[in-house]
Amino acid sequence: MVALRGSGPLKLGGTMQVSVAGAESNVAIGLARLGHAVRWAGAVGDDEAGALVLRTLRAEGVEVSGAALDPGAPTGLLLFEPRLPEVTRVHYYRAGSAGSRLTADAVEDAFAAAPPRVLHLTGITPALSATARSAAARALRLARGHGSLVCLDVNFRARLWTAEEATAVLREWVPSVDVLIASDDELPLCLPDGPAARDGATGPPTTGPAAAGAAAAELDARAEALLDLGVGEVVVKRGAAGATVFGRDLPDGPLHRPATPVRAVDAVGAGDAFVAGYLSALLDGEGPAGRLERAVTTGAFAVASHGDWEGAPTRAELGMLGAPPGTVVR
Ligand code: ATP
Repeated sequence: MVALRGSGPLKLGGTMQVSVAGAESNVAIGLARLGHAVRWAGAVGDDEAGALVLRTLRAEGVEVSGAALDPGAPTGLLLFEPRLPEVTRVHYYRAGSAGSRLTADAVEDAFAAAPPRVLHLTGITPALSATARSAAARALRLARGHGSLVCLDVNFRARLWTAEEATAVLREWVPSVDVLIASDDELPLCLPDGPAARDGATGPPTTGPAAAGAAAAELDARAEALLDLGVGEVVVKRGAAGATVFGRDLPDGPLHRPATPVRAVDAVGAGDAFVAGYLSALLDGEGPAGRLERAVTTGAFAVASHGDWEGAPTRAELGMLGAPPGTVVR
């Protein structure tokens, strides 16, 4: 999508900055900045906005030869409205957009050149339309057939589909997923009892150590249930509290990593940056601890920078976060 970023309440007008956005393209750029070979499969309109999207991806080193140009639909659009220092509203204009008309053929094209080592999908694509859902399902089947590792970021978007609709699709996918990444309240969407478990998780607020213990036990049980369904590892993103990885082969149980402390300027895109860091370390052959470490680092870069992907670090920049305030790098 094309992204327009304002500086205050949208209805007051003013100027906006033009950029591109989208969960999968954010991950693709994050990985390319870290030196990995990345291909993006998707669709844009045959218009100037689509040209901006493809040009930006190319400029960032992301391969787009498998991307589809749809002459019959516009490129999707989103508007960022910083409403309060800590609250940003995002307005989407993607109903009927080229991206929402993605078809399975486009995905075939992207796989045709060479099957990837890792396929990354989000739960946004299947929420866009029936054809986009079949495109994502085809990608999943192709990945299984080629022996590619499958990563899924649940990325539930309540404005696109209901929790029941999401559950119906995601629980079908789960047995084919190697790395499942989600926020803790998204895990129930991937389980057979679906939204019921989710509603339970968001019940009356409770506080104190007993409630925290119960929440931790519930998270453990859900991650365990996903591992029983065949998921290789479950990675839970917890915002400023960091992240936890659950897996069968972890000798000391779930591995937690606190977030890297930074001055937060724009939290949007942290999740995608986190995924890019996690997959980068996985592609490098790092174990779960190394993956979490790089993921919280790239997540922190996103939070400390304006824009969804603009602040993504190169490999040489990864060590910058520990620098004392006022550091000048010459
Ligand atoms: P979004 O949908 O906005 O991209 P998300 O809900 O998918 O976000 P988060 O859990 O908010 O993802 O953030 C992903 C990771 O980024 C966290 O696990 C953490 O490592 C890092 N992160 C998030 N917020 C902060 C913060 N305030 N300070 C440092 N790191 C953060």
